[in-house]
This record gives sequence, C-alpha cells and structure tokens, in this order.
Amino acid sequence: MTTTPEITAAGFDTLGLAQPLLKALADVGYETPSPIQAACIPVLLAGHDLLGEAQTGTGKTAAFALPLLQKIDLKRAVPQALILTPTRELAIQVAEALQKYAHHMPGFHVLPIYGGQSMVVQLRALSRGTHVIVGTPGRVMDHLERKSLVLNNLQTLVLDEADEMLRMGFIDDVKWILEHTPAERQTALFSATMPDVIRRVAHEHLRDPKEIKIRSATSTVVTTSQSYCQTHTGQKLEALTRILEVEDDFDAAIVFVRTKTATVELADKLEARGYSVAALNGDLTQGLREQVIERLKAGTIDIVVATDVAARGLDVARISHVINYDVPYDTEAYVHRIGRTGRAGRTGRAILFLAPREMYMLKLIERATKQKITALTMPTPGEVANRRVAQFTQQVVDIIKTEKLDFFFDVVRRMEGEQDIAAREIAAALAWLATRERPLQMPGAVNDHAPRDAAPAASPTNAVSPAPTFERKPDFKARSKPDDGAAAEPRRERPAKDGRSDTPVTQRTFAPGTLARYRIEIGRNQGVLPKEIVGAIANEAGIAGKDIGQINLFDDYSSVELPANLSNDLMDILRRIRVRQFALKTRVMEPGEFVDTRPPRRAPPTRDSKKPDWKKPAGAKPEWKTKRS
Ligand code: AMP
Repeated sequence: MTTTPEITAAGFDTLGLAQPLLKALADVGYETPSPIQAACIPVLLAGHDLLGEAQTGTGKTAAFALPLLQKIDLKRAVPQALILTPTRELAIQVAEALQKYAHHMPGFHVLPIYGGQSMVVQLRALSRGTHVIVGTPGRVMDHLERKSLVLNNLQTLVLDEADEMLRMGFIDDVKWILEHTPAERQTALFSATMPDVIRRVAHEHLRDPKEIKIRSATSTVVTTSQSYCQTHTGQKLEALTRILEVEDDFDAAIVFVRTKTATVELADKLEARGYSVAALNGDLTQGLREQVIERLKAGTIDIVVATDVAARGLDVARISHVINYDVPYDTEAYVHRIGRTGRAGRTGRAILFLAPREMYMLKLIERATKQKITALTMPTPGEVANRRVAQFTQQVVDIIKTEKLDFFFDVVRRMEGEQDIAAREIAAALAWLATRERPLQMPGAVNDHAPRDAAPAASPTNAVSPAPTFERKPDFKARSKPDDGAAAEPRRERPAKDGRSDTPVTQRTFAPGTLARYRIEIGRNQGVLPKEIVGAIANEAGIAGKDIGQINLFDDYSSVELPANLSNDLMDILRRIRVRQFALKTRVMEPGEFVDTRPPRRAPPTRDSKKPDWKKPAGAKPEWKTKRS
C-alpha cells in the first residue's frame, strides 16, 4: 500500500500518542505533524513494519522515534529498540532527539554507540543498562559479537538513511544485524531513495511493510521571483536582517519557521533589532490572530513570524516578501508559503534559507515551481551601509524638494559666518546628528562613503559612528530599541551551530558578594555536562566562569550558583538560554528547595576547588559534579 499523506492541521493528539510524548512535543513547540509524521506514526503505533521514502528535514526522526518511545517499558533497562544510522553524527543527533522527546519519561536512557569512540567507555555505558541504542552498523556488530550488547528483548529496529548505509558499504553489516535480532521485532526502514538493493533488503527482512512516500507537489507555475541564500543556522538571523535592509521594494514580510517556540524567539530577536514584528502561531486565539493580521494590513507591524498552519489562508496584499527562514518539509508546503506574496496583482519575492545539507531541496523546488531559484549571498556590511546612505540621500533630496527651508538657510549662513566653518562641514555634522540613532555605517563596514578627507566639524569622537543604539523612527524600516539594542545586537548577532553566539558577549563584572543558587531545567536525563552549562552561561549571558560556582546535576534539572540579585534583564537572558535545545528557564531556588544529599565532606569546598573533595558512592543519586569535573 502506498500512502501520500495530506498536510492536515490536526495536531499530534489525534495520532494516538501518549501524554508524556505530547507534553514533550508541546515543550519543543511542534504545532502540527509533518506529512511523514502524520502518515507514519499511526502505522507504527499499530505495530506494522514500514518502508518510508523520506529525506532529512522531513521530520522522519520524530516519525519513528515517537512510536518507538511509546512502547518502551521504563522499568526494564534493557535495549528495547535499536536504530542504525550511517554516521556517528547522525547517531548522536538521533539520540539527542530521542532524549528530547522522552523528556517526560523519567529514567529513560538512550545510548549512542559508534566507531571511533573508546570501547571501554561504551562497554561501561552498556553494562549500566539502557532502553534504546542508536549506533553505526560496524560498532553495533562488534558489540553483538562480544555479547556486550544483547538484543533478546528488542521490539523495534529502525534503519535510518538506508541508502546512505548502502553507499558507505554497510549493507552486509546491516543484513547481519537483521539476522541476529529477534524475528518478531517491528522494523522500519527509511531511505531518501529506494534503489533495488534496499527494496530487496526490505522484501527479505520486513513483514508486509506499509509503504509511505512523500510525493512532491504537482508542479505549479509561480510568478514570484525566488532566491535562496545558503547559510549555516547560526548566521540566519544576521543574513535575514541584512537582506531585509538591501531588498528593493520591501513593504512587509512573512517569515516562516517550523515551531511555535521559534515564532516567538525570532519575533523577539527581530524586535530587539528594531523591527515592528509579531509572532503568529497555533497558540493564538482566533481573536489575537485576527488582530495580528489587522495590524499587518494597517502597517503597524511589518513582519509576521509564522508557522505554516497559522499562516494558512493569510491574504494581505502588502506582503512583498516571503522568507523561508526554516526550510519547508516539502515542495507543497513551499508553494503554499510563497503564495502569501505576489497577491492582488503585485509582484512578490520569496527568499529561502538553506543549510548546506538542505541544498537538495533546491532542485525539488525548482522542478515543482518550474522556475529557476537564483543564488543570493548575504549582503556585506559595506553593502548594507551603501543602502543606508542611498536611503539617507533620498530623504535629503526629498526634503530639499518638498520642505520650505528659508529659515534653515539663515541658520546655516549664520553658522558659516559666526563660526567660520564651511557649509560642507556643517552638512557633515548635521548628517552625523541625523543618523546618530541609526548609524549609516555598520560595525566593520568598508563602504564607499567613509570620510576621506576633512575631519568632521564636531568633536573627534564623532569621526566614526558610535555602536548602534537605534531608535524607532517612522522613515526607516529597521531599528533597534533605544536602550537594549546596543547591548543586544552585537551579542546575538552570530549564534553558532548550537544556537549559541560565536562572538563572546562582553563580560559582566559583579561586585564581590554572595552567590545564590539558581534552578535550570536541564539535567542528567538530557545528557547535559557541567561544562556545557558554564559555556552557555558565559557565552550568552556574559557571566565569567569565575562568577559561576558549583553546579549540581539532578535527573531533570540542575542547580547552579551565580551572583545573587541579578538584574531582570540578565534573568531574562538566563531564562531563554538554550542548552541541548532545552531552554534553561532559570529561576532563583526557594529557601529549602535545594536539598544537599551529598555524603559528608572532609573539608568545606571552596568555589575555586579544582575537584570535588568527596567521592560519589556507587549508585548515589543525584550525581554531583563541579563545573570543572
Ligand atoms: P528530521 O527530518 O527528523 O531531521 O527533522 C528536521 C527538523 O525538523 C528538526 O530540527 C526537527 O526538530 C524539526 N521538526 C520535526 N518535526 C517537526 C514538527 N512536527 N514541527 C516542527 N518542527 C519539526
């Protein structure tokens, strides 16, 4: 049977998933199942074998992970599911996804095992017991042969990216593993393509599998002009804001992201950079949703950050740009998205951000829209500055044409005479004044308009525009808030792959004083390491390592010592920091909330002690670590 699922607005709750999983999906902000999820989850929950044709980016991980998790018996720490992946990176990624979806399954353990990692470490981890193994074929075979991995209790076997495993020469290992697992297991095989060899493996080892394939949309001729920008995840925000600055005919934009959480996070970041923006997601009531649309129509907001479901049917003529900030699941979703622009006879513009591993979508979309998608590179600071200068020049020209300036001619003439300054210098100083809130130069820009000769008339400190401290003005589209913009913009400019900033935030200084204990919502079950917590807090909040005290990991949360009485702004940043995709939701611990169950120590530890001076008794919970351990 081959099923081509429709995208439906129905949430995950209609698919038969259990509460803890639904809760985890709400935590990560998934609004609606992707087509592959809508099709696969019920089939897998019903116990069928499955042959799925799906690429990375379609949401296939959750499609097999959620049903598999639903069947795990947490009381038995034996491998109940095995997922084979072609690469170590994918093994880790899949294990992290499982951990995320199992957030409300206390005591759940998943173990990635792959070549290149120390055998001793893996043997120790395996002997401790785990519910799910995610591994590369070679290493899984090794462990099966050594009997360090026993799969007698295996219920589910997933072959992820089977065609990649074939390409990398693992297919015999995969067949061997299939032959050494209980015959009554459920098997799901996912592959981006279905070469004959894979079909044969499926035929031999899967029992009457349901076939699920995500078909591309039937091709549609699209008149919207389309571009793509290849960028790493960490650069997307910077790329977006620069592109919006240099795009011709920008009026309003709809920016598509995948999750509800992402709509709010990106809207906040854009707002901090001075855009009038609102989030549109399935959590909004119909009334609030209509309000957002009305504000967009009326021009009180220029950008809406939306999920696919929330933006369905949105018809606002002034949307000049559709930005595919997160790549759509398939070409059909893409065509729906870009249909939000180019309405009422206007020309529209669609821009697609693609990470290098998502580039395969380009050809699919070109085929589906019967149009070439042109490459767009992220504008340089110089290009942005040139655009700002051009806009400024146009404003000056318009004012000369339209305003009565007689009084001001007099003012300038008087300045020239009384102060003995040339009109050109006065004009330069006035330009500086007029753009002080939104400097024409971006930090680091080399543009055609840098002052070449005479120093500006004003004080020498004015020679270079100060760091941007933007203010909203009616005649510019993008500016930052008066006070937080300067601090927020450089800090959040270039988050790295994990969503963290590459550029360290300016370090904050704290008067010497007491530390307080704060609770963060990530713990051992999420696989967090103390050094990751220190790194995230230091990079994102600018709190130096020396100001971070003891960190204690519990199953589902941790405590961390930080300076007491942090400002509201800083608390806000600390709440939003993400580690391993979990928002820390930092808050001060209540008196008595922290229960110190450590065994007695020989000497009181100091904040700078290199190692904890106590030993963890076997099996003790929670696990105590210092940030440097
Ligand atoms: P995958 O194809 O499994 O690698 O997933 C690609 C990306 O889509 C991952 O970042 C997932 O977190 C995200 N994702 C998967 N399913 C959904 C969903 N239903 N809603 C929003 N994002 C999703």
